[in-house]
Amino acid sequence: MKYYNLKDKFEAVDFKTATIKSQGKDKGLFFPENIPQFEEDFITNLSQYSDQEIAYRCMKDFVGDEIPSEVLQTIVDETVNFEIPLKKINDTISVLELFHGPTLAFKDIGARFMSRCLSYFLKDQNKKVTVLVATSGDTGGAVAHGFYDLPGIEVVILYPKNRVSHVQEKQLTALGKNIFALEVNGSFDDCQNLVKQAFSDEEINNRLFLTSANSINIARWLPQQIYYLLALKQWQSIEQKAPVICVPSGNFGNICAGLLAHFRGLPAEHFIAACNSNDIIPEYLQTKNFKPKEALPTLSNAMDVGNPSNFVRILELFGHQFDSFKNKVSAYSTDDTDTMNTIKEVYKKYNYILDPHTAVAFASLKQYLEENPDKKGFILGTAHPVKFPEAVEKAIHLEIDIPEALNDLMTKEKKTVEINPDFEELRRFLLHQN
Ligand SMILES: *Cc1c(COP(=O)(O)O)cnc(C)c1O
Repeated sequence: MKYYNLKDKFEAVDFKTATIKSQGKDKGLFFPENIPQFEEDFITNLSQYSDQEIAYRCMKDFVGDEIPSEVLQTIVDETVNFEIPLKKINDTISVLELFHGPTLAFKDIGARFMSRCLSYFLKDQNKKVTVLVATSGDTGGAVAHGFYDLPGIEVVILYPKNRVSHVQEKQLTALGKNIFALEVNGSFDDCQNLVKQAFSDEEINNRLFLTSANSINIARWLPQQIYYLLALKQWQSIEQKAPVICVPSGNFGNICAGLLAHFRGLPAEHFIAACNSNDIIPEYLQTKNFKPKEALPTLSNAMDVGNPSNFVRILELFGHQFDSFKNKVSAYSTDDTDTMNTIKEVYKKYNYILDPHTAVAFASLKQYLEENPDKKGFILGTAHPVKFPEAVEKAIHLEIDIPEALNDLMTKEKKTVEINPDFEELRRFLLHQN
């Protein structure tokens, strides 16, 4: 499989190069040159396959022979090594719980897959690689955990000061060893811009071997298709009709992976992009105008994105046809008040505790199903409620226990370097550090 640069279709690279380089010329995102189809037999009989077999089949076409089969199988076994249950919340809405991995966030899957691919590709080189990543909350933790203590890899995480939760911050800043955290006096978009600038800075790239672990990297983006297959495997045993799939969205990597799986043959009645007050895509669907904005801070901070990077991939997938996009995808925006009310209501009515991100998804799917009463669907549960105790406890007046896996981390000390959203400061850190 080759991947072409969305900004320059003549630049086409293999899986290895796209994984290592992350972006192409002109900061363009890579995109697969064809959409490999699932065998119909595979899709209709998912329950006959183990989760790991499904994951392997999902990824094999994208990796090709660049990673030997047995190594790829080990990578997916290590990636999908926790449960991903689909649970019914009520009669029409189920939730795919993606938060039982090591950092209690769905990003664990992409981060674990990518870190292992990168390790494999780098094992014969004695060059040190710096993984540079901007996070609005959860990416950093998943990446830090996925790359922790891997030889030859150093991780530098940029996160917006005071805009991540306490648990998230510990996951970013307390591991130590090869993980470095930069606390940026700004927003997630500032962090993302700094990272993008670093990638196009000649001096930095001469001195360091930089790569990214944001969902712009195909090795993080593509394995997210696995969620949708594992959801469908469970969906098929409880429902006849294809599901409406609702994805809490920020940078739009996750929903884009779901759409890719759909284009490969995964049945889905409809997709919903659930946004918080950062409503760039809901607005786009109404006005046909894609207008990036300053990111607004919200309770669902991992979705505080004012210029969703993966949107260009979605457009590409739909062949830049606005109408076919609009036929398949709806988008809603839910503000913090409605998010809190949703957490409250769902707990009271169904005894289920939502984190703020998943709550945004619930609110959107509920609204869609009210407008389309004959349908059913599921939401992607992207984070464990314990990661956002302030909001959740305020909504339901119930203290949530911190899972044992986190206890150890919570007692460790936060270590960060504070910088302003000024590229010179990042540059100094990177060059000085090395
Ligand atoms: C990253 C994240 C999202 C948004 O995913 P995108 O792929 O950026 O759209 C949603 N919820 C949580 C908890 C996240 O960490």
